[in-house]
Amino acid sequence: MIREGDRVLLIDRRGKRYLVAVSNREFHTDLGVLDLGELIGKDHGTSISSHRGETFRVLKPDINDIIAKMQRGPQIVHPKDAGIIIAYAGISSGDTVVEAGAGSGALTLFLANVVGPQGRVISYEVREDHAEIARKNVEMAGFSDRVTIKLGNIYEGIEEDHADHIVLDLPQPEKVLPHAIEVLRPGGYFVAYTPCANQVHRFFQAFQEYRGEFYKPRVVEVLVREHEVKRECMRPKTTMLAHTGYITFLRKL
Ligand code: SAM
Repeated sequence: MIREGDRVLLIDRRGKRYLVAVSNREFHTDLGVLDLGELIGKDHGTSISSHRGETFRVLKPDINDIIAKMQRGPQIVHPKDAGIIIAYAGISSGDTVVEAGAGSGALTLFLANVVGPQGRVISYEVREDHAEIARKNVEMAGFSDRVTIKLGNIYEGIEEDHADHIVLDLPQPEKVLPHAIEVLRPGGYFVAYTPCANQVHRFFQAFQEYRGEFYKPRVVEVLVREHEVKRECMRPKTTMLAHTGYITFLRKL
């Protein structure tokens, strides 16, 4: 049931999506004005009509809807990469994940969604302005109960004494290796997302000193080829998001 203060996803006849907080107020669109108070007490899946008779479907937003509509600062981790980070590292309900940098908080939200209310995500961010954006997005997603955005430089150390996993999206993940081996539980993953091949190369040069601490490394990049589905023709789209980043996985022994 939809309550006052809940966020809902509205979809109009053109497929345009709106993420709105429900309260006794009007919401203006180019297809007319909606009285959002009408939604209180209704179930997700209902419809609402504008004063011009245009119908909007009402859904419960999922994590992708929230990330699509949230405030952006630095470049976010794409869902295809977040998905494989979570799957390959086996991140699950109740886990404690130490992350850096928080950036816009997109990967933070994917992680928070998976660790659930019993889990924790502690995300270091060195820039105050980025930390502020990430904090706002965490609050908007309703994950303040399980996420801490920490202003700090993770290269200087990890204050937590335990992490099930460490997930990094920053320029020099090798600088976190000496701190990671102190706090990462055996069996937990060290994951580094880096856009450039030379960053991966530099990482593995530094890694040699720590290789006895980890099971054999794995580096992947994820290519998703989307298809157009039309009545008369289904075929791959002519453009695709090709390279985003390399993802390095190390499992602590
Ligand atoms: N993964 C984030 C997301 O999905 O929204 C985006 C991360 S953004 C590309 C990289 C962030 O790392 C920046 O906000 C930057 O300020 C932060 N950063 C860089 N070096 C850092 C460090 N040593 N400690 C903490 N944060 C750092």
